[in-house]
Amino acid sequence: MPAFKTNYHTHSTYCDGESNLREIAEQAARFGMTELGFSGHSYTSIDESYCMSQDGMQAYYDEVGILAEEYGPRLRILRGIEMDYFSNPEDYSYDWDHIICSCHYIKKNGEIFPVDESEDILMDACSKYYSGDIYSLIDDYYNEVGNVADVVRAGCITAESSADAALIIGHFDLITKFNEGGRLFDESDPRYVSAWTGALDRLCGQASSEAARNTILFEINTGAMSRGYRTAPYPSKEILAEIAHRGMSVILSSDSHEKSTLTYGFDEAYELAAECGVNVLHSIG
Ligand SMILES: [Zn+2]
Ligand SMILES: [Zn+2]
Repeated sequence: MPAFKTNYHTHSTYCDGESNLREIAEQAARFGMTELGFSGHSYTSIDESYCMSQDGMQAYYDEVGILAEEYGPRLRILRGIEMDYFSNPEDYSYDWDHIICSCHYIKKNGEIFPVDESEDILMDACSKYYSGDIYSLIDDYYNEVGNVADVVRAGCITAESSADAALIIGHFDLITKFNEGGRLFDESDPRYVSAWTGALDRLCGQASSEAARNTILFEINTGAMSRGYRTAPYPSKEILAEIAHRGMSVILSSDSHEKSTLTYGFDEAYELAAECGVNVLHSIG
């Protein structure tokens, strides 16, 4: 039985997950979890391979609502979504409990490429659009991350929805997915550090501004560990220490795509949080 009882970053067969909503809820109940947040990938017309369809979105929204009623207070089920920076505006018309705000793509010279699909795609894009200068690509990635909460909040305001939704910054340093052991770039390089520090400054500044009606949280995400890409969660210790230093809080996220990984690596992630002095929320209530 896992000691940590909540997870808000969960994928199902409505997008690129392997278990259906009910199977996941049953597993969460078996694990003795107290809160389970679903977060299907929002529809992105630029890439339909991994996300919910537009019709599927309504069915997903409805089915999560039915499960939430069925399980009631013994397992609180939250209706969330993982919005991409390039998600379609219609996705904001639903009333989400929480929104994972994520950057999976970079737009350069009018074209869009994924940063987390494969190392080859990332490095080909680096050659094609940045003349091989990975730190320029990284600058673009973190500029987008710094803006993502603003974009999501604007979408919610325009659609007059999700006013109370917590905004969770998804896998802050996803750009390191294929960088285990510093294979592609040096994470202590001043250009790298200044890129992520800039994004953090922007997000933390927004969190404390009066315009921010939604809570902004970060996540310690173990998804790349359960899928064998990494041996440590996102974000790095250095970034977590800065999140702590700025007084921001984190949740633990499994980014689960399969029911058995609902709380994957949470003991380790919890220890990491303590080591970095960052406050972990057990509920986004
Ligand atoms: Zn994601
Ligand atoms: Zn995800």
